[in-house]
Amino acid sequence: MKPIHSIVAGGAGFVGSHLCDFLITQGHQVTCVDNLITGSRENIAHLKPQRNFKFIKHDVVKPLPSRFAKANYVFHLASPASPVGYMQNSIETILTNSMGTLQLLELCRKGKAKFIFASTSEVYGNPQVHPQTETYWGHVNSFGPRSCYDESKRLGEALVYEHLHKFNVDARIIRIFNTYGPRLNENDGRVVSNMITQALKGTDLTIYGDGSQTRSFCFVSDLVAGIWAAISGPKTRGEVFNIGNPTETTIQDFAHVVIELCGTPKTKIIHKPLPTDDPIRRKPDITKAQQYLGWEPRVPLKEGLRQTIEWYRGRI
Ligand code: NAD
Ligand code: UDP
Repeated sequence: MKPIHSIVAGGAGFVGSHLCDFLITQGHQVTCVDNLITGSRENIAHLKPQRNFKFIKHDVVKPLPSRFAKANYVFHLASPASPVGYMQNSIETILTNSMGTLQLLELCRKGKAKFIFASTSEVYGNPQVHPQTETYWGHVNSFGPRSCYDESKRLGEALVYEHLHKFNVDARIIRIFNTYGPRLNENDGRVVSNMITQALKGTDLTIYGDGSQTRSFCFVSDLVAGIWAAISGPKTRGEVFNIGNPTETTIQDFAHVVIELCGTPKTKIIHKPLPTDDPIRRKPDITKAQQYLGWEPRVPLKEGLRQTIEWYRGRI
């Protein structure tokens, strides 16, 4: 029997590399497509010996050769994801989430593959509704430092909508909330990577603003299970799902948990200015994912952080 063929755009990144791992264990033929703008070969080095894994260095803004239209699943995870990453690569981020999404949708239109677009909780901007449900339209600044990411993800969603309704593409969207775990790039400026490396290196731990802003942190294995449920489950075509962990934490509390689990009680906390348009509260309402997908996160924050810290310890 022919193996199932999955294309993972952004597969050499943090989430994408874990998704490739999962798909390989499911017996898929996996093609990882990545231009390495924020990802790395190191993230997928362990997969290289696998016969059913292939890496192609390619920018998804350009079309893939038409032979890839025969794939069964196309996962679009390509895009810088951290504020530092997308602000440094702002134009590339806009193009990847717009033109890149269009190219991958066109591939699915030709070959009838199932498509999933990794959107983001950032489409809700600095939300005025809490927790955020999929029906909330958001409160987003279209003209600021985060706009390259927020607005291009929103445009990507609109392209998915059009391909669903005009061309009958079998597509769905997930809005991913803050996710962490091993392989989260230690230099990408996200709170999890920053604070763990700071605590382990014995430098000052940086809180932006007063630390009262909140985030809800999802462990990467839970996210991967959610991605698979959203693309493979029945009645998911045309749907939008929040995928995240609804346990909300202030950044101040998060800093203390990191210090506790790193075992570095002498770490000093310093405060830096809150970046422009930094969302004040963020928490997914995951009722829809629970009902449609039977999915919910399983890994508690401390458990996920222990595994993540172990991974960083091996590198620092
Ligand atoms: P990441 O930066 O580690 O991975 C993204 C990957 O996409 C990288 O390997 C990068 O090189 C690749 N890429 C970027 N532009 C590309 C292009 N034009 N062509 C080919 N490859 C390209 O980020 P991540 O945390 O793994 O995020 C993966 C996806 O999930 C992104 O789409 C992101 O927007 C979304 N997301 C992630 C989070 C999170 O907390 N990690 C939250 C919300 C949404
Ligand atoms: N943050 C922080 N210290 C850091 C990095 C980030 O206090 O060293 C804050 C940031 O201002 C935001 C939250 O932590 O309020 C999450 O930031 P991150 O960049 O991880 O993701 P975001 O949810 O903002 O995209």
